[in-house]
Amino acid sequence: MKPDLFQAPDYYNIDELLTDEHRMVRDAAREWVKKEVSPIIEDAAQQATFPTSIVNGLAEIGAFGPYIPEEYGGAGLDQISYGLIMQEIERGDSGVRSTASVQSSLVMYPIYKYGTEEQRKKYLPKLASGEFMGSFGLTEPDHGSNPGGMVTNFKDKGDHYLLNGAKMWISNAPFCDVAVVWAKNEEGRIHGLIVERGMEGFTTPETHNKWSLRASATGELIFQDVKVPKENLLPGRSGLGAPLSCLDSARFGIAWGAIGAAMDCYDTALRYAKERIQFGKPIAGFQLQQKKLAEMLTEITKAQLLNLRLGQLRNKDKATSAQISMAKRNNVEIAINIAREARQILGGMGITGEYSIMRHMMNLESVITYEGTHDIHLLITGLDITGIPAFK
Ligand SMILES: Cc1cc2nc3c(=O)[nH]c(=O)nc-3n(C[C@H](O)[C@H](O)[C@H](O)COP(=O)(O)OP(=O)(O)OC[C@H]3O[C@@H](n4cnc5c(N)ncnc54)[C@H](O)[C@@H]3O)c2cc1C
Repeated sequence: MKPDLFQAPDYYNIDELLTDEHRMVRDAAREWVKKEVSPIIEDAAQQATFPTSIVNGLAEIGAFGPYIPEEYGGAGLDQISYGLIMQEIERGDSGVRSTASVQSSLVMYPIYKYGTEEQRKKYLPKLASGEFMGSFGLTEPDHGSNPGGMVTNFKDKGDHYLLNGAKMWISNAPFCDVAVVWAKNEEGRIHGLIVERGMEGFTTPETHNKWSLRASATGELIFQDVKVPKENLLPGRSGLGAPLSCLDSARFGIAWGAIGAAMDCYDTALRYAKERIQFGKPIAGFQLQQKKLAEMLTEITKAQLLNLRLGQLRNKDKATSAQISMAKRNNVEIAINIAREARQILGGMGITGEYSIMRHMMNLESVITYEGTHDIHLLITGLDITGIPAFK
């Protein structure tokens, strides 16, 4: 892998719109990624292992619970700082960002938002420091885009709940210490339960043979008559809206993260195009290559502005789920297109692990599917503007 010479594109001086704190948080994450992620990530992806050596560093840059209050171990930052941290981590690798997103938005957020004070105190500081790693179980083998159809269920057995079912495609599952699991009670109402590793009947087999997010561990969560203590139910909210609100937070992070991957592809392609000589001149001098680079930078700039405005709205608690869907969908799509174009600029070298582009491209194939597929986010926008659901 080449040395990390990344220089972030900022064509519209968006830096000027950030606060000192935003820039400080962003720069710390950027430096950490250069020093700790870039040198090891290609090997981790090639070997299909999550690099556990970076967990402490992720905690130190505030990637675990950036906006969770400091009293619970979080970094107490605003939504724009959260977005910038996700952008920088995904600039390194979408798999690493996935681990951080799950930990923050899908495990810490529901415990903070819907948990009891005891649950917050018990789990959040350990999740913030990386002592505990978490996973989020919503998707099932037969219920992906339609999670409301889930069959995982729990029964009230007096002094405990009895949990049965299976979740699939779960990030962090193989090594998680705790899982926030969504299951139906006897009335069919969805609730969140905190399941801990070591509970009898709870297993987390790993999913192998992925060509995407290879540096992130994915697996199943299987529950066979798992006795879950009653105090592990998240009492603050029930119904599908509870897990969906967590997805809003994670999708917001993805909208920023995808631009990190896009920026890395653009920056790599630009540098390569200026250095690579064909027909006696740098390929950057050919119009066709300039068109690719100019269009990449245009799309990145538009997406950066979209993210910033969405961050402002989220800071005021005014961003709608549909607005977040639009940003997730748009930014992942432009990122995947930029990765494909950037790969072509590198010619044959673009398919090797010497450069990050092919890894980003393959990673983005998961990012465009998880947390709501590309099609589903389009239907969410369609519903928002017409008032008519086209899901079924
Ligand atoms: C690497 C990875 C990590 C993941 N991590 C997690 C995790 O941590 N936790 C978790 O709970 N889940 C996770 N997921 C699951 C992910 O959210 C689902 O894969 C996703 O929601 C899609 O579900 P599905 O794969 O079952 O596809 P399906 O729902 O079967 O969809 C297949 C295709 O049909 C389309 N489709 C479905 N319904 C409609 C419709 N009404 N109209 C038009 N088209 C439709 C979809 O857009 C898609 O193109 C992860 C997935 C991956 C790949």
